[in-house]
Amino acid sequence: MSNSFCLVIATKNQGKVREMVDLLAELPVVVRTAAEMGFTEEIVENGATFAANAILKAETVAQALKCWAVADDSGLTVDYLDGAPGVYSARYAGEGAGDAANNSKLLLNLAGVPPEERTAKFESAIALAYPGLATVCYRGSCSGTILLAPLGHEGFGYDPLFLPDGETLTFGQMSRDAKHLLSHRGKAMEQLRVHLHTLLIERK
Ligand code: IMP
Repeated sequence: MSNSFCLVIATKNQGKVREMVDLLAELPVVVRTAAEMGFTEEIVENGATFAANAILKAETVAQALKCWAVADDSGLTVDYLDGAPGVYSARYAGEGAGDAANNSKLLLNLAGVPPEERTAKFESAIALAYPGLATVCYRGSCSGTILLAPLGHEGFGYDPLFLPDGETLTFGQMSRDAKHLLSHRGKAMEQLRVHLHTLLIERK
């Protein structure tokens, strides 16, 4: 284990942790969460973009723990709401608000808006950092529509309200594997996997 490549996931969001662990599963890396490594600090996500916040989180944890750290910053941008909730997706209904409150606020703000105007996009930025090395950041997105009511209990966040384009099931109705094939996070993580693969070969 001493020569193994340890990667720390810089998030407290358990939905993201589950998905990122899945998406890193085939790589020969030891994956830990920041909390498991003793990092419990609250990182103030004050960036204006998903990428800025992802880089901030990955670099903060990499510096603090002197390790490789990976962070996802993501959210939902709704066209009718001029891109809201965007970088505020986690706290749309207020600081500490849960998924149910955020989803209710979204439905309220879209009340009366017809299906064809409920277009939205999930976006993800995934940053990989190590102290003293240049941080890399990959992006992924997934377009879809916000339904009139939630469907399904899988996933997290806005998943039950989000119907990806061309699909018949919401993210909340899909298995994790099915979501990974379509999702913003799946697409960003695919690029990170290629990058990590190269890093691991270079380390040999
Ligand atoms: P962050 O931790 O600041 O990046 O906040 C991300 C927030 O965006 C989450 O708390 C969810 O509300 C939302 N979000 C991001 N990705 C997803 C997803 O895959 N499904 C559902 N909601 C998501």
